[in-house]
Amino acid sequence: MKRCNSTKICLGIEATADDFGVGLLDFEGKVLANVNSTFIPETGGIHPREAARHHAKNAGRIISKAFQTAKIEPQDITVVAFSQGPGLGPCLRTGATAARALASYLNVPLVGVNHCVAHIEIGKLVTGFTDPITLYVSGGNTIVTAFDAGRYRIFGETLDIALGNCLDVFAREAGLRQQEGMPLGAVVENLAKKGEVLVDLPYSVKGMDLSFSGFLTAGVRLLRSKKYRLEDLCFSIQEVAFSMLTEVTERALAHTEKIELLLTGGVGANKRLQTMLKIMADEHDVRYCVVPKQYALDNGAMIAWTGILAYKYGLIIPIENSYVRLKWRLEEVDAPWVKG
Ligand code: AMP
Ligand code: MG
Repeated sequence: MKRCNSTKICLGIEATADDFGVGLLDFEGKVLANVNSTFIPETGGIHPREAARHHAKNAGRIISKAFQTAKIEPQDITVVAFSQGPGLGPCLRTGATAARALASYLNVPLVGVNHCVAHIEIGKLVTGFTDPITLYVSGGNTIVTAFDAGRYRIFGETLDIALGNCLDVFAREAGLRQQEGMPLGAVVENLAKKGEVLVDLPYSVKGMDLSFSGFLTAGVRLLRSKKYRLEDLCFSIQEVAFSMLTEVTERALAHTEKIELLLTGGVGANKRLQTMLKIMADEHDVRYCVVPKQYALDNGAMIAWTGILAYKYGLIIPIENSYVRLKWRLEEVDAPWVKG
């Protein structure tokens, strides 16, 4: 039965990589549910097809849990949004299939959302920022971005791997294990607290861009040399990588003269990174916010919220054209809802 009140609600599905998330938000931006299940590989990295299998297996359960949490019925949904890209093909396609099935069954419109834009928009919603420089650092992305001349522009980004991926690969090489509620980056962070010696690692800032693959190789080589304590290596990796991020972010701030700085993405949960950016933001008299963890890691709420923003501007897609976009770049996205 349709709800008798007129509250409009969006269901958002996130499935770009290791997380399958479902968010339910009303059109005012109130989060009614934000439920997630993370694929944890037995060994090695994230295998796209294994992660997709996890999503397919858990989709029904997570969607039901979101409805139970929000205390609403599927018929209360006004629009369905899904992460259309960028991301891993099999994962994106699994999320898209669930979204298409729901939209078609409920006979409601479908909106395709850019995952990176969603990180920024939920960050703005929960912090109240309107026009920030955003540092978005996660398992799959490392981007410094801001809205400029009608679009979100990339001021700096990784030229190879994302910092989160770099931390995860290093941690696995060191034999560390990921657990529920304790991502590998957080394990590295805990060890880094006990580090004392700053070991030399390549500082790779190229113009406004960053590189972490040579940095990772150097870290792994030092690890295998067994010359240093793991705590010192974790400490050094954090100090060098986070300095690189802070430098590029500082230059983006100076260039754009924006007065808000937003930190988001899974790596944004790191206290040392948060502190470095805070010191820099204070020096420039810039307002600074860290997006709370439940909205900084990959989540369904951010897809639902961005879906609402896009839907209000009529940006819906027919199911037959709702193909996923594995390499969908931030600056290719139309964002008419942003006042630039
Ligand atoms: P996301 O891709 O946004 O879901 O974030 C996942 C990434 O964030 C993984 O690479 C994690 O290892 C990393 N991560 C999570 N918590 C922390 C932390 N406290 N410090 C550094 N990295 C973290
Ligand atoms: Mg993730």
